[in-house]
Amino acid sequence: MSKLKILILILPFFLGCIGLEKREGVRLGRISTEPCVRILLGDGGDIQSDGNIYIHKGSKVYKLSSGTIQVKDGKIYRDGQKVFDITSSIRVTFGNKSFGYNGLLYWGEVILTNSLIINKIPIESYLYSVVACEFECGEIEAIKAGACAARTYTLRHLKLDNDYDLVATEADQVYRGVNSETKNSRSVCDKTRGLVCVYRGKLIDARYSSTCGGRTADSKDVFGKGEPYLRSRSCNYCKISPHYSWAYKYSKQNFRELVQDRIKCLKGKDPGQVRGVKIKKRDKSGRVKEVIVEAKNGRFTINGEDIRKLFDLKSRYFDIKSRGDRIYIEGKGWGHGVGMCSWGAIGMAKKGKGFKEILRYYYQETSVKKLY
Ligand SMILES: [Zn+2]
Repeated sequence: MSKLKILILILPFFLGCIGLEKREGVRLGRISTEPCVRILLGDGGDIQSDGNIYIHKGSKVYKLSSGTIQVKDGKIYRDGQKVFDITSSIRVTFGNKSFGYNGLLYWGEVILTNSLIINKIPIESYLYSVVACEFECGEIEAIKAGACAARTYTLRHLKLDNDYDLVATEADQVYRGVNSETKNSRSVCDKTRGLVCVYRGKLIDARYSSTCGGRTADSKDVFGKGEPYLRSRSCNYCKISPHYSWAYKYSKQNFRELVQDRIKCLKGKDPGQVRGVKIKKRDKSGRVKEVIVEAKNGRFTINGEDIRKLFDLKSRYFDIKSRGDRIYIEGKGWGHGVGMCSWGAIGMAKKGKGFKEILRYYYQETSVKKLY
């Protein structure tokens, strides 16, 4: 089934079942086939296969024997010789075999767009890896919650107007192909096959991160768009996380020099010697929004995210404290903090909560539906 047809079929989820949404008890539509997702793996490089390599160009299919093809500057090479120009995009398939790229093995097929290497794969096969990379732990109900969240996130982020849907890193969801899959991740995906989180008939934007540190963040404060089901709420379940609290120590001089350098980069102006750094504003959840820097040449404002990057902090949920000739940055949690707290989900599962209850806790007023 083409991607367009699938999107048309699941469009009611995106649009909230236009006209039907307000009717009580209406059953959401289901689709018969699981959709595919397109993940950007990289730009150019070698693709290897143990089986035949099939290049689909227009209505023709060219068969190459097993081995390696090189993708570079919008062209496909074999043993250093150009074999194809990639005019718009080209499909490459591998029979029923996996293919290798950048040291990892993947299922599915490849779409080459210019030199972009895009892996097209049915969602459930993609989730076998994502669930293992993002949610592997000893608590099955937490992994199930993770599988539903990752599936929902994927479906919600399918894009008609882009060459690919998601990237393979934590900017979307970590995806590392066949060898990252585990027995647990496969069995949990199979058990929750097609289950998604919905709010008033729409697929939700199922954000999640490692550890909220005691309170989840509001999506408006992080992604600029508020969602009723992604409001900040307390979480007493992630205290078991190794990232629940953390601290970094700097000498005063080192700390001030780092801040001075960062302002120089950010504002294009040397602030001179830094005299003090103070947290000025926090968001509703307590995460740092603005920091004021008093320096020789004036007063400067830096946003919390820039400070987080500057000191490579795990989150914006921190305090800056001065003791003697040291500066301490003491913080909580890891990640943006919006939506499901993965360590909180583990904590809830340890207390006997089921995956639906976990999902409802972090995605408020939502329910779980079977899409396919
Ligand atoms: Zn938490």
